[in-house]
Amino acid sequence: MIWQCIPASLKKMGTVHEHSAFLSVQQVEFYLYSPFVKFVFWELPPFFSAMPGWRVTFHKNRFACVIIHFSRVMTGMIFVMLIFMKNSASSGDISRVVAHLEEQGFKPEVITSGDSRMIQVATDGRDIPSLEAFDGVNRIVHTEPRFRLASREFKKMDTVVEVGDRKIGGGNFCVIAGPCAVESIEIAHEIAMVLARENLKLMRGGAFKPRTSPYSFQGLGYNGLELLAEIRKKTGVLIVTEAIDVESVDRVEKVAEMIQVGSRNMQNFSLLKRLGKISKPILLKRGMSSTIEELLLAAEYILSGGNNNVVLCERGIRTFDSFTRNTLDLSAVPALKELSHLPVIVDPSHATGRRSFIQPMSRAAMACGADGILIEIHPHPEHAFSDGGQTLDLTEFKSLMGELHELAKIMKLKVN
Ligand code: PEP
Ligand code: MN
Repeated sequence: MIWQCIPASLKKMGTVHEHSAFLSVQQVEFYLYSPFVKFVFWELPPFFSAMPGWRVTFHKNRFACVIIHFSRVMTGMIFVMLIFMKNSASSGDISRVVAHLEEQGFKPEVITSGDSRMIQVATDGRDIPSLEAFDGVNRIVHTEPRFRLASREFKKMDTVVEVGDRKIGGGNFCVIAGPCAVESIEIAHEIAMVLARENLKLMRGGAFKPRTSPYSFQGLGYNGLELLAEIRKKTGVLIVTEAIDVESVDRVEKVAEMIQVGSRNMQNFSLLKRLGKISKPILLKRGMSSTIEELLLAAEYILSGGNNNVVLCERGIRTFDSFTRNTLDLSAVPALKELSHLPVIVDPSHATGRRSFIQPMSRAAMACGADGILIEIHPHPEHAFSDGGQTLDLTEFKSLMGELHELAKIMKLKVN
């Protein structure tokens, strides 16, 4: 791999430091400190251009250091950035920005219209930090979204994520159901039997519960994971459960067929990076106060780490209305589908917090193009350890499944 072979060659020419914050499948950066900076700068390009699929850019600075930045060439993807200059900007201000961009290998173009000047530059989507700090810069506008791997431009076809023998996306509507938290083997078993009767296999159930209050039930933790492992072994259900921190990932991975990232953790970047390093599918829930772009950038963390199996989940956002627990933003479904190739599912349970709303909003999710739902069910919602008020009982669940099958015929979807 690139980062294994490059340092050895570079070391001959100076001291090499790997900039690990950027170390991902898509971007690698090395700092080369060498007394022969000029020489290195001019001699390296022919050598590195021999690596197909990678673009190399050099950044010189005054500390006898060359920053060598590798990024994968994204064929067909060009990101345009517009740098609007202040009317008071001098021609020197403009030349300094242009020179800075050219030093990094870009080909900026200055556009003048009356008194206004603007610099247009096509990039591969990489951040060009601190441009705002240049004198004369007024505003920077990215004409394309900042996510790449998650974008429709990067991949036109819908991604279908496979969880065991079940599929999410590409005409496959997946129902993931189970208790809010796993409570006992008996209850888990009863739910697993109901899923089997409905020809479903994906069972949700939290072992670690990220609760707003430290006094609320926190889940059974590692005992809960053991319980999930037991029910998987006994019944063949596939487990969808949450990893709340980096430390728990190893053990959750052993039990789960799909790992959930909860709303409160959508921007836990170390967790996202860790999940980028595994191959199990990830169910990424939208942060309750996060924008659609932030959700896709969170997905980008996982994708750029190398894990392509990401399913997005709309679970309601915080608005001024407190009648429902959150406001289910169903328009996020077509929005995400337009912007991204990743499958999108809907969680009407956490979105509404109301049991009587789950059936209509599940139907709505299917109707608006979602690739599945994640819902809470329990044999006795009134005795559930958490979230009973938004949990369907098993009879209600059966009735919902009947409705979804009817709608699926019209929508030409395969429920699984
Ligand atoms: C859950 O699905 O178990 C959960 C806690 O949901 P959220 O992270 O969306 O609040
Ligand atoms: Mn819950």
